Formats: sequence, C-alpha cells, structure tokens
Amino acid sequence: MLPWVVRRTRLPLLVLRCVACPSGRATVGDGRFRVNANGKLLDVWLLVNCVACDRTGKLTVHDRVPVRSLDAGLLAGYSGNSPSLVARALLDPAAARRNRYSLDWDGCWELVAPPVPESPWPVRITVAFDDPVPLRPEGLISLGLGVGRDEVARRIKIDIPPNRRTRQDFSFLLM
Ligand SMILES: [Zn+2]
Repeated sequence: MLPWVVRRTRLPLLVLRCVACPSGRATVGDGRFRVNANGKLLDVWLLVNCVACDRTGKLTVHDRVPVRSLDAGLLAGYSGNSPSLVARALLDPAAARRNRYSLDWDGCWELVAPPVPESPWPVRITVAFDDPVPLRPEGLISLGLGVGRDEVARRIKIDIPPNRRTRQDFSFLLM
C-alpha cells in the first residue's frame, strides 16, 4: 500500500462577489478576526479583503453567542488571530454556506506522491485529503503517476466515479 496525500500549500481564495467592484475573489490575507462584545453577547467575524480593490468585508464566525458559551482558549485564539483558527473558520463548510462563498483552490494545494515501487505488483495506492480540496480522481492520479488520462483509464481499478470531484479519502489499484 502506497500513501499519497493532498494538502494545502496556502489558504484558498474565496469566491465572493465584491460590493464595490466587479472582482469575484477575496482573501483572508494573514488572517484577522474581529471580536465585538455587546453586553453578554459576542460577535466574531473573520475579515476578508477583495483581491482587486482591497475593500474589507466580514464573514460571520459567531453571531451573538453568550460570552460564556465560548471556551476561554478559543476566545484568546480569536483575539490573537490564531492561524489555525483562521484556517478552521475559512474551511468550515457551514461558514461557507452561511456567508455564501465557495473556495478557489487553484494553485493552493499539492499532491505528495512517493515514487511507485517496481514490486510487488499490482500496487494499491491510498489518497488521503489533509485539506478538503475538491479534485477529480483521474486528474489527480494522472498528476501523481506523471502519465496521461488515457493511460490512467487503462491501468487503474477504482470504486468511485473517476471524473467526479471528491474530497473524501479513496484508494485505487494500479495494474
Ligand atoms: Zn473589490
């Protein structure tokens, strides 16, 4: 069994309409939260900037939640702009739905694929997604093996549709 890994090289852009210009992309940049306390209620936003005009927008992370419902460590992470919390907030599918954006992963990920050994043969290759990058298996396998898609189609056995995007771990048999 040979493990391949898909992982991000940087945070993806957001596909998000700008209210000030025709750009459809925004970035979290270095990642900044804004925390606002209103009595016992707390709002937490993740700030994003338009890649064209730099206009700042806000993504809702927490909307009027009781201060006490947020763990102190979590709150400190938001106040300190913790990079792992920035990634978690941006990549959270629920946040994407609530704030109506999708992610543009172009140029933001890599495939770590060790060379295929000569034997034993055939070899089973597992693909693990460290980050939820939606990818077509056939394109990914073509990249990992360094061969064209026709050859991929001839040489692999796979249990999921090879041309439908997935971000779930899968495996295939290389013959
Ligand atoms: Zn703009």
